[in-house]
Amino acid sequence: MATEVSSSIKALDATSVHRISSGQVVIDLQTAVKELVENSLDAGATSIEVRFKDHGLASIEVVDNGSGIAPEDYDAIGLKHHTSKLSSFTDLTLLRTFGFRGEALSSLCALCEQVSVTTATANEAPMGSIIELDRAGRVVSKQGKVARQRGTTVLVTGLFKPLPVRRKELERNAKREFSKALALLSAYALVPCAQENKGVRLTVTHLAGSGKKSVQMRTNGAPSTRASVTALWGPKALEQLVDLDIRFGVETERAVLRRRGIFDDEASSSEVRVRGLISKFAVGCGRTSSDRQFFFINGRPCSPSKVQKAFNEVYRTFNANQAPFIVADFILPTDSCDVNVSPDKRTILLHSESNLVQSLKVSSSAGSPGPATITHAV
Ligand code: ADP
Ligand code: MG
Repeated sequence: MATEVSSSIKALDATSVHRISSGQVVIDLQTAVKELVENSLDAGATSIEVRFKDHGLASIEVVDNGSGIAPEDYDAIGLKHHTSKLSSFTDLTLLRTFGFRGEALSSLCALCEQVSVTTATANEAPMGSIIELDRAGRVVSKQGKVARQRGTTVLVTGLFKPLPVRRKELERNAKREFSKALALLSAYALVPCAQENKGVRLTVTHLAGSGKKSVQMRTNGAPSTRASVTALWGPKALEQLVDLDIRFGVETERAVLRRRGIFDDEASSSEVRVRGLISKFAVGCGRTSSDRQFFFINGRPCSPSKVQKAFNEVYRTFNANQAPFIVADFILPTDSCDVNVSPDKRTILLHSESNLVQSLKVSSSAGSPGPATITHAV
């Protein structure tokens, strides 16, 4: 007689699933801030203020002057996989926004004590609404008729309180986590200028437990990377940099397939342009490389370790003692990279990455770092 064996594999309940996956999207203080700032940039904001209370332990508030959220969308903003930016998987190759998965606000709801959104579109301003969300991202209260110019303010309090171990870790390393968040914000202060010729006024303030308020960072919104560097590190830092402008061809994924006879069209190589700033040979900016090196792919901050290594290797052939300051934005076709690799979107998969690294080495070592327009045919 067959005995019934109950399966030991069971589905997790929805709340646990939500909390587990949210913990991968919002890993630490800097990813929480990053998601909020990216939402402001996606909303077309030209002014963003980030306010930390007690190094972000008490609260993080991001105030922008972007599009605002329309009243008919209030119920969906905190729901998982609800987004206004992507409607089907195929859109991913054309993606120009930072967000696309509809996970950030829902994750913050699951991982914080409280999340509230105050918002007004051009239609409602100068009056807007405050929306309070619960852990599941549902609207628990809506209050209309609060003063709000066009834009959105998201206030999150008690980050990681629902995850005691991570909260303890955050409290223990509060200052270090706060510095990491500031470093990431510097990248966002440099970002948008590179491409769209649109500057963003970014202000970061800190309110200490003692009540002392300080401005940590302020850019003036000029649409130039040089202006942002000056605002962040002073005019002396800028004097030590030269323009970086390299172009080269990289064989595209489609071209590889064409070589194998799968496609039969002319798309053989695509041009990659790298724009930004780099230290003059003689100066560098210290021995360690990662502090002041900012990489972007199509204006999206990322950590492309092989590309970073290639840059440092080439620079080392000119200056053996110092690592360079680098701001480098790789401008390439959106279908030659995949941003949907890691939950925090910092890892970007580049098709033909080794090709790109090789071309980069050849192009940049052919001349001094500086205004260079070198085309390396593949
Ligand atoms: P995603 O950015 O991937 O769409 P989020 O969870 O970060 O997902 O945000 C959900 C939605 O809420 C966005 O698609 C957008 O419509 C809206 N939203 C969030 N923050 C803002 C903001 N600062 N300004 C305007 N709309 C916002
Ligand atoms: Mg987002």
